[in-house]
Amino acid sequence: MVVKYVLCVPDGCADLPSDQLEGRTPLEVADMPVLSALAARGTVGRAAVIPEGMPPGSDVGNLSLLGFDPKVHHTGRAPIEAAALGIKLDPDQVAFRCNLSTVDRSGGGDGMMADFAGGHPTTEVAAMAIEAIDAEIGSGAGAEIRFYPGVQYRHIMVAPKSWADAECVPPHDLSDQPAILPTGPSAEKLLAVMEASREILSRFDDLAANQVWLWGQGPQPHLPSFESQYGIRAGMVTAVDLVRGLGVMTDMKIVDVAGATGWYDTDYEGKRDAALESLADDCDLFVVHVEATDEAGHAGSVEEKIKALENWDRRILAGLVEGLGKIGPWRLLLSPDHATPWELKTHTPEAVPFLLVDSDVDGPGGVYSEKATASSTPVPGHELMGRLLAR
Ligand SMILES: [Zn+2]
Repeated sequence: MVVKYVLCVPDGCADLPSDQLEGRTPLEVADMPVLSALAARGTVGRAAVIPEGMPPGSDVGNLSLLGFDPKVHHTGRAPIEAAALGIKLDPDQVAFRCNLSTVDRSGGGDGMMADFAGGHPTTEVAAMAIEAIDAEIGSGAGAEIRFYPGVQYRHIMVAPKSWADAECVPPHDLSDQPAILPTGPSAEKLLAVMEASREILSRFDDLAANQVWLWGQGPQPHLPSFESQYGIRAGMVTAVDLVRGLGVMTDMKIVDVAGATGWYDTDYEGKRDAALESLADDCDLFVVHVEATDEAGHAGSVEEKIKALENWDRRILAGLVEGLGKIGPWRLLLSPDHATPWELKTHTPEAVPFLLVDSDVDGPGGVYSEKATASSTPVPGHELMGRLLAR
């Protein structure tokens, strides 16, 4: 029988113990009977999804989980998201991630990063705003830059390669803190774009975002296809351009689920069913990515983080395990791409717990939590895929 493989990614679900949770983490507090049962017959451990010295971003972490060493293949975050939007960079171009963000200057200075997600605009409203910016400061004859609308607050700016030498701070690392503007040789050009965007965005009454924030730049990376690397056909469902871009670059089948939002209200069942349908049809491996746990971490909402974990258990894992059993033998890997501790509201680089389960072969069994795996030696994150596929 052909074995089917699933990679489950609750983005940023790992956390730190909190006094408010009596020393526990959201994973320890959440009611997850299916996950507990899987862990009890599987193998748990710790994965270094973020290689030492690299930024703890979803790009790096998800690249690891898909089985590619970020130290070899990572050239920046924005080019991956650009790939998701079908943008191919010329050798003399770089892509920047362009957030619609809210920077509050009422207290003076460079202002405070009030909301790195600009109030979570709808994709439709955001697209109008980005198109207006492109029309005024990009696009035109002689213009060096172009803006491309993405999803919600996440967009792309393509610029000449020479702009890449600016030092840019990810805006989600600045939540409720002073806005640290780009520095370095090309910073002036970026600052001019960010400043010009304020006037344009002020014309959009229903937009909480008041300027663009540029960061995460890099050139086009070169990634082998998943099939050429691992010898099997893979598919993916995600609402996040960054993760989708990794799927596009590695030539995975990308399944669109209408209700997938990248937010708390995402269509969990739709993602579960997309996995089961693809695995029954044309995929040997399927990646189910859900962003809600990460967004809850950034928002500092422990309630939403716990709820998102419980949704994973009830609305994905329960039906997934049952459905997989009907298809044939299967192996499942579950791991976040990094931790997003809700009290810190940002990503951290420490190793995260992983779970590996085989439908037919029992592992030593364990508990899926940060504490229960804290003493195990971390496995390099990009080696997990090999472990999942080794049978
Ligand atoms: Zn992430």
